[in-house]
Amino acid sequence: MVRKMASMLLGFFIIPVVFASCMNEKRGTELNPKGDFKAMREKMVDTQIKKRGVKDPRVLSALLKVERHRFVPEEYFSSAYSDQPLPIGEGQTISQPYIVALMTELLELKEDEKVLEIGTGSGYQAAILAELVEEVYSIEIIESLAFVAKNRLLKLGYQNVKVKAGDGYLGWPEAAPFDAIIVTAAPDHIPKPLIEQLKEGGRMVLPVGIYTQELKKIVKQSGKLETTDVIPVVFVPMTGEGVKGKR
Ligand code: SAH
Repeated sequence: MVRKMASMLLGFFIIPVVFASCMNEKRGTELNPKGDFKAMREKMVDTQIKKRGVKDPRVLSALLKVERHRFVPEEYFSSAYSDQPLPIGEGQTISQPYIVALMTELLELKEDEKVLEIGTGSGYQAAILAELVEEVYSIEIIESLAFVAKNRLLKLGYQNVKVKAGDGYLGWPEAAPFDAIIVTAAPDHIPKPLIEQLKEGGRMVLPVGIYTQELKKIVKQSGKLETTDVIPVVFVPMTGEGVKGKR
């Protein structure tokens, strides 16, 4: 009887301890594999970014530095450095790393510049920009995403990023003009307020289109716009009153 009770008690203690240690091991490899994530980032930059022709050393080092896994839900940690967009909630996605790199390179950013991003999403693109310029302004139309991204960026120590919830179609007139503007949701036409908020010599990179979209680079030169079509892309559509009002 005594022996039976002792073995029951032992089981009672051992099973949870073994179970907990397995869990810890799992959490350990998922949550704290610093080395693994660094290696994954290096591989991402080599195989997805450099191989496709992105060369700007400042852009490449920002992509090596910013921990993309911190911008996706925990269940996607293991795919955080794969060659694809990933869900971030509210039906939205964090863009494919190559597209982030390409758009950032096209912006030709200098250290002392001020950039506006439309479509904060997870905040990843904003963090990449914050590594490269003095000031980043980012607008997200879905309030819950804006809230999460704002806190995430603060927690990660980015003091040069301002995030606000609102309709990015209208830009951020109080902070304008901007040296560069990046739009990460697709409008069906080029938003006029954003062109107005671009400095002389400023660059804007954005996807335009409804079903098929083209990534465009626009340079404002002597009040005129020089537009180049870069590649076909797939982004979530730009929403909001601004874009609807202009249809
Ligand atoms: N740059 C993001 C990914 C953007 S996904 C990242 O690095 O994670 C596009 C985002 O644009 C979505 O979060 C969507 O809610 C937002 N969006 C769509 N229309 C918008 C608008 N009019 N103003 C601001 N944000 C908008």
